[in-house]
Amino acid sequence: MKIQLCEYCGKEFSAQRISAKYCSNSCKTLTSKQKKEKEKAALVALTKQKALDEQAYKAKQVKQARIEKNKVKRELKAAREKELAEQQAIIEKELQEREAAQLAEIAEKEQLAEKERLEKIEKEKAEEKLRNQERLESVARKKENERKFKYQLQLLEVIAVGAGVKYLIDLLSNDKPIF
Ligand SMILES: [Zn+2]
Repeated sequence: MKIQLCEYCGKEFSAQRISAKYCSNSCKTLTSKQKKEKEKAALVALTKQKALDEQAYKAKQVKQARIEKNKVKRELKAAREKELAEQQAIIEKELQEREAAQLAEIAEKEQLAEKERLEKIEKEKAEEKLRNQERLESVARKKENERKFKYQLQLLEVIAVGAGVKYLIDLLSNDKPIF
């Protein structure tokens, strides 16, 4: 026989076997019950913790999904804005090119008109010069003709005087009365 302490109530008791832990069946049963309750409580706590963990995990996943979704949304929006900006840039470039082409065409037409205007002026000047030259030549011709005509008249005068003198000499040499 050996004196031992009950593991449940702590009282001293005399055990017949060395492996005995409790003073009575009641303490043994109560220990078993307490153990079961502890296990149950532990299980409940574990289940609760598991549920909390799961909830937290789900919440985290939802949050992550929301972040992911927002990210995708932002990326889509940015892509759409970029595409719009590119299209707008293309349209603006086309407009600018068209405008530049129109301006170039107008400038070309103006240049051509200016060239034609200058050519017309040159032509008119040349014609005016030609007319002046013709007028001068005509005046010169007229003067030359007048000069020739005067010379011929003088020649005729000389001839006429000569003829008159000869006539007089003939008359005188014929010994005839003159009148
Ligand atoms: Zn006991």
